[in-house]
Amino acid sequence: NLTNRLSRVVKTLRGEARLTEANTQEILREVRMALLEADVALPVVRDFVAKVKEKALGEEVVGSLTPGQALVGVVHSELTALMGGDLGPYAAELSLAQQPPAIVLMAGLQGAGKTTTTGKLARWLREGLHTHEGRKTGKKKVLVVSADVYRPAAIEQLRTVAAQAGVDFLPSNTEQSPEEIARNALEHARRYHYDVLLVDTAGRLGVDEAMMREISALHALLKPIETLFVVDAMQGQDAVNVAKAFNDALPLTGVVLTKLDGDSRGGAALSVRHVTGRPVKFVGVSEKLTGLEPFHPERMAQRILGMGDIVSLVEQAQQAIDQQDAQKLAAKLKSGSKFDLNDFRDQLAQVSKLGDMGSLMEKLPAQFAQAAGQLKGGQAEQQMRRMRGILDSMTPAERAKPELLKASRKRRIATGSGVPVQEVNRLLSQFDQMQGMMKQMKKGGMAKMMRAMGG
Ligand code: GDP
Ligand code: MG
Repeated sequence: NLTNRLSRVVKTLRGEARLTEANTQEILREVRMALLEADVALPVVRDFVAKVKEKALGEEVVGSLTPGQALVGVVHSELTALMGGDLGPYAAELSLAQQPPAIVLMAGLQGAGKTTTTGKLARWLREGLHTHEGRKTGKKKVLVVSADVYRPAAIEQLRTVAAQAGVDFLPSNTEQSPEEIARNALEHARRYHYDVLLVDTAGRLGVDEAMMREISALHALLKPIETLFVVDAMQGQDAVNVAKAFNDALPLTGVVLTKLDGDSRGGAALSVRHVTGRPVKFVGVSEKLTGLEPFHPERMAQRILGMGDIVSLVEQAQQAIDQQDAQKLAAKLKSGSKFDLNDFRDQLAQVSKLGDMGSLMEKLPAQFAQAAGQLKGGQAEQQMRRMRGILDSMTPAERAKPELLKASRKRRIATGSGVPVQEVNRLLSQFDQMQGMMKQMKKGGMAKMMRAMGG
């Protein structure tokens, strides 16, 4: 499988100081295969691989990395950037900064999931749910309307999801024109002071002129702050053409990738981003109205590459650069930002590399040594490995926000790392102690820290 092949290639390149045409060729071929297997469109794959190559060639291989690790690092970070990681942490947020009502127009082919997503977004906005950065949008008063005048059933479907979402539904019918419906809805939303108006539209089975004209006209009339292109993740190679057609006809502001709960590897995400340049804002992960999540560029990059193991290769590479990690942590503490489980994990990784756990434990903060149970040599190492296993089984978001770790996630993590749930709990309470100590350190400065460390 790909992981094995990559690991092997990564190893064979050990000892070279620079990334070259020759030492990257094989890995790039594997990357190309992985992307194609994930259903990324061929032209997008070509562009991507060319870009990675351009970035990588001639690059010096830092520290203890092998060229293979360095290249996998470039691939991963480039993919994450392409997925929207370079757009900043709030790229996935809906913009509602419009004189109310803020209007959201849904576009996409029939069956893409527009009506379902309209219901999901309605619920999301009504409840003022967290974004992935933990910011709240605040609870909104939401109105939904359907401009799908070709299928009465589609209008009824929206009525049903609106009721489930607990938002208001403005009836429309197939006798009306889409523009008429839009004008009515706008007026109604203004008169009754809705914060947000979601406009569901008709789609066709394929891209056609009439559909594009219709939705362009709706766009001109509604002047929406968000025009979301809804696309089925299972669409695969074809997603590129569909995205291109919609992007040419409409000033899209974002993408919703639906049906990611299927077995698609999400290659469409890369294709669509590449073609539209717009951020994927949400992903649909079930038919239910709760099945909507903010988009995570890094997770999608991992999914497309097809494995957590590529990421662990990257992480191995990153961890080898001790000093950088340490500096980052120091800077983070200095800047007063929160010490989270990601930092804890980095610390453990650094500590593990220093070897000789027995003597190391003595140097660790008192609370921590206590928590580790005053273990000797081998035992401590084993303990440390188990802790790292637990931390590795969490997602980066969970490590950034340990409060996410409710019972079901803990169970998943325990299963993933092969430990009892109690051990996950123990680690979390150790982390709590550690966090408390970090706070003190910030307050009390170096001297206090040295005392705490018994030095
Ligand atoms: P529309 O024609 O674009 O309005 O698409 P619909 O909202 O009617 O959705 C088409 C089908 O896809 C329906 O059966 C939905 O239940 C289903 N669907 C939509 N989003 C998702 C999703 O995220 N996951 C899954 N599994 N099914 C979805
Ligand atoms: Mg529909």
